[in-house]
Amino acid sequence: MIQYICKYTPIELFAGFGVECARREPKVESFELADGAAHQNLCGFGRALLEDCLRNGTGELVLVNCCDSIRRVYDVLQQRGDSPFLYLLDLPRCETACSRKRFAQALQQLSEAYAAYSGLRFSYKRFCAAFSSAAPSPDAPYLSLLGARASESLLGAVQASSSLPVQNDTCTGRRDVFLPSQALPEEAFWEAYAAALLGQTPCMRMTNPSGRRRITESPYLGGVIYHTVKFCDYYDYEYSVLKQGRLPITKIETDYTPPAPGQLETRIEAFLETLPEAKPQKPQEGSAKMDQNAIFAGIDSGSTSTNAVLLSADKHILAYCVVPTGARAGESAHRALNAALQKAGRRREEIARTVTTGYGRAHIGEGDQGVTEITCHAKGAFFLNPQVRTVIDIGGQDSKVIRLDDAGRVTDFVMNDKCAAGTGRFLDMMARTLEMDVSHMGEVDRGWKEEITISSICTVFAESEVVSLIAQNKRTADIVHGLHKSVASKIGALLARVKAAGAYMMTGGVAKNEGVRRAIEEKTGEPLLLSEEPQICGALGAALLALESWAKA
Ligand code: ADP
Repeated sequence: MIQYICKYTPIELFAGFGVECARREPKVESFELADGAAHQNLCGFGRALLEDCLRNGTGELVLVNCCDSIRRVYDVLQQRGDSPFLYLLDLPRCETACSRKRFAQALQQLSEAYAAYSGLRFSYKRFCAAFSSAAPSPDAPYLSLLGARASESLLGAVQASSSLPVQNDTCTGRRDVFLPSQALPEEAFWEAYAAALLGQTPCMRMTNPSGRRRITESPYLGGVIYHTVKFCDYYDYEYSVLKQGRLPITKIETDYTPPAPGQLETRIEAFLETLPEAKPQKPQEGSAKMDQNAIFAGIDSGSTSTNAVLLSADKHILAYCVVPTGARAGESAHRALNAALQKAGRRREEIARTVTTGYGRAHIGEGDQGVTEITCHAKGAFFLNPQVRTVIDIGGQDSKVIRLDDAGRVTDFVMNDKCAAGTGRFLDMMARTLEMDVSHMGEVDRGWKEEITISSICTVFAESEVVSLIAQNKRTADIVHGLHKSVASKIGALLARVKAAGAYMMTGGVAKNEGVRRAIEEKTGEPLLLSEEPQICGALGAALLALESWAKA
């Protein structure tokens, strides 16, 4: 069995030898071995492939010299020498008469090398039988997973979240190599095969990728989930070009290890919520129409707090409650909802509809529908102040920047990566190190005098930096101010990515920290809008969505 990674690999050639090919899909959790064998700036896929080969053996592997990362992987594997057949195919970067000739020679050399290694004979009949026929063009709305190759788990997550069919248009997902219509004389064979391989929808490493418009100009394309791999620049470039167009698009970057639990689904679902036809609608059972006394509940099950909001049919907040999220998200949701009901003097049976949101929404066993925090915070913030065009939500484990249009619809959003920097958790840890309560940090920040920059991006290193600043007798207020600036600088980067514009509203627990607010205001040059209780904005949005979906039913 030959394994390959790139769609330009001549798999029909191997079929001619009677040998099957399989695309190698590395499934790795870390880069422990890869990072010991090569430098860490290989792209995420290169590192994953190397890790997989070092862990599970290289096997018979055909690589293509796509980029420096794959060349380095080849170098390491060749030096290791555990593969019975390891080959680096030289792929031209353009499709011209000259490059077809060159590639034809490269294919012929590969064929000779494989025949010499395996002792097998090539059959033209088998070769011809291996070509697939062209897939029909889509004739109904669909979503495209575009960009750099995606792991099976990413493709599966997109498919599971979308009610529209998903087409895998990533660099390896779309392989359109077709047999030339007429039988070929032997001398023309190699060049015709080279032309068929090079004539595919080009990948971004080709000099002229204009043929890729085939993918993005389909009239049935409803939206694009664009995947980039860390340190792979080819596809970042295409994303920035597409982003300037009108196609609904969102970017997901991975390093090829499994994404942080919940985060990937939230990103995909939040994007699909902006394309109503792509989001599966949960059937509305049991929510029989009720009178104007009906109430609506929103529950936000966050990593740190669980918040419930009760809304009347005329959109008045009847009561809300914020409780800490304990080990069991379901119990906290119960507690928050019951406490809100008690405050409002209402009964559970009076709730016409409940929408849940937040990281734990899938696990709390409450509610008629789950909606992402992105949509809910946007909804809540716009309700509180229709001037809002950018929402900055910093919670316990996530920070998000959400861009709204004039009607309050989400037009773009970004989230922090799987890293605590720039989140409430970062501040919680630093408060512990400084032996203070996180709720006092904002006030302490007011007394700062000396500018201190916390330069570490990683939370763990930042903590060591704080410990060393304490040892240097730096004033607590100055350290706290430095920490708040570090959070604001993370947010500044997210703001730039969505081309943020005012008015800005801050939501989430960290909005209660006036020091962080001031540091962000310095970045935006505008005052931040703030609601009376910023922590409940997501639950409020969820309650509003509950009311709206009830009214529509
Ligand atoms: P999640 O939605 O992830 O549960 P929250 O929106 O509840 O997160 O925000 C939790 C974070 O807010 C905490 O990690 C803490 O840093 C911060 N926070 C909560 N209350 C306060 C407060 N009174 N003053 C300052 N920061 C606070």
